[in-house]
Amino acid sequence: MSVLIYWFRNDLRLRDNPALVQACLNADQLLPVYLHQSDGQLNAYGVERAGGHRKQFLRDSLADLKGQLQELGSSLFEFTGHPNEVLPRLAKSLGAKAIYCEQIEAPEELKQVALLRKMGLDVQTFWQSSMLDPQYFPFEVQEMPDIFTEFRRAVEAAGLKFTNPVNTPEIFPSLPPMDDLGELVAEAVLDHEQIQVDYLGGESHAQAHLKQYLERRLPDSYKKTRNQLIGQDYSSKFSPWLALGCISARVLAGEIAAYENRYGANDGTYWLWFELLWRDYFRFLHFKFGKRLYQARGLSKLAENVTPFDTVKFEQWCSGDTGESLIDAGMRELRASGYLSNRMRQIVASYWIYDLQGDWRAGAAWFEAQLIDYDVYSNQGNWLYIAGRGTDPRGGRPFNVIKQAQDHDPQAIYRRLWLEHNG
Ligand SMILES: Cc1cc2nc3c(=O)[nH]c(=O)nc-3n(C[C@H](O)[C@H](O)[C@H](O)COP(=O)(O)OP(=O)(O)OC[C@H]3O[C@@H](n4cnc5c(N)ncnc54)[C@H](O)[C@@H]3O)c2cc1C
Repeated sequence: MSVLIYWFRNDLRLRDNPALVQACLNADQLLPVYLHQSDGQLNAYGVERAGGHRKQFLRDSLADLKGQLQELGSSLFEFTGHPNEVLPRLAKSLGAKAIYCEQIEAPEELKQVALLRKMGLDVQTFWQSSMLDPQYFPFEVQEMPDIFTEFRRAVEAAGLKFTNPVNTPEIFPSLPPMDDLGELVAEAVLDHEQIQVDYLGGESHAQAHLKQYLERRLPDSYKKTRNQLIGQDYSSKFSPWLALGCISARVLAGEIAAYENRYGANDGTYWLWFELLWRDYFRFLHFKFGKRLYQARGLSKLAENVTPFDTVKFEQWCSGDTGESLIDAGMRELRASGYLSNRMRQIVASYWIYDLQGDWRAGAAWFEAQLIDYDVYSNQGNWLYIAGRGTDPRGGRPFNVIKQAQDHDPQAIYRRLWLEHNG
């Protein structure tokens, strides 16, 4: 009898989940689990690592996943605690042979798996969060071109668009007998207040969002509208579901390709793929540079920021009280909704780094807490890029706030929207 544990991480879906498919094939009995690890945990800047909007989106996503698993005769069990505390106890109680999960190539997550293995557990990890499978690259992923344009050219020259998704598991193994688990099975009841979020978490909501996005032909206008600041439709808003893996980038890219077959390719459909490639690129940089992406100086030779950390400035920036109206509008939108357009992310990040002389890592930590689409690779990669401590050949991206306001909010509609009602 083969008993296995499936550890859901940022892959809260059944469709296109190769790790889950393998676990289903190899298990007679399977326990699906999710671990709440950062609940209440503070980061180095005294901010709770996951704020209210993120938690709400996660809860909705887990509830949706649990419902889907129950329809297949299984369920989802939530625990609070570190993987190296919870998983060995579970494995022992169940007599589980192995733990299956997705591979996350970021230092904290790699360390978790290394620790479990060191404790004698068999942990089977599967890389599955990118649009492209690195095994088809015309280069070793550790040797990938540093600069995005070179990476993109190599990928396009090799004719790579996306890797085909895999199907939902056809047969789902039954749950192991629960008697042996005793109090471990008490599901995690997390202290949290219900928060209104603009997007509902979960695979079924991700699929519904995708369906309406394509039916309304929004890809066609994407390139023209993507730098706007207000509303639901100027960009795709796939990011929250992608971040928790409620939908995979491969499914998304596959649907965009099917859309192109039906209606014809255009610069909007190409640009959506192009942005998904940025997402992949920031993932693959982790295979090449690993922990170096987390140093204060990043990949650069720049000195560390020696300006002492200014708590007052940080709080003013976080709460949208800097006195610079565009920045304050952006930071209030982020705090009030858990989301911010790409353009505003760039502007407020630049302001924190170049105008307020802040440490980019503090800015990244605030984004981690707030963003419902928080994704370790994209957040780290974009902050490094703007700070000139990543792979940007231009060595950083300072944005002129006055010019940005003139270009993107000439009538101050965005500023009024967030400053008048969110003071
Ligand atoms: C400082 C900073 C921090 C960021 N932190 C995150 C983060 O934690 N999580 C996150 O998903 N994105 C992050 N981004 C990237 C980008 O802002 C968001 O992916 C995008 O705004 C999400 O909205 P959307 O789904 O409507 O994007 P769209 O414009 O519709 O793009 C489609 C998809 O392409 C991907 N994408 C688009 N732009 C980027 C980009 N610059 N980098 C990587 N992938 C991209 C996303 O998966 C997105 O869902 C950050 C950008 C900056 C400047």
